[in-house]
Amino acid sequence: MTDKKEEFKTIVRNYNCKICNEGHKIELSRSLVKDRKSFPFPKVFLHGELRDILTILYIDRDLQIRGVEVQKLNLENLFSKEQSLMIADNLTDEIDRLNREIERLKNENADLKKKLGM
Ligand SMILES: [Zn+2]
Repeated sequence: MTDKKEEFKTIVRNYNCKICNEGHKIELSRSLVKDRKSFPFPKVFLHGELRDILTILYIDRDLQIRGVEVQKLNLENLFSKEQSLMIADNLTDEIDRLNREIERLKNENADLKKKLGM
């Protein structure tokens, strides 16, 4: 059971942002690296007061941040084609990962029901 707890642990990392000109903290969950095949993988999100800074962190299997890309979005050019593709790629990976997780939980659930004679 300790394994399961470990999976949900989070770790706080820092990254330097060229746009805000300061370091930011981010909380990363260990579950992020679970079932992943390739590292480092990109984590894409928006930050900043107006949520207008596109942030891509490249994260390795130890949840270390290996690279940081930040881009300020503006109204004329919210997402470039490349940015959109990269976000879509990232989301596809994430959906795959979540599907595998759902499958695993379904099996666990079925096993549990069997054990309980349900
Ligand atoms: Zn920033």
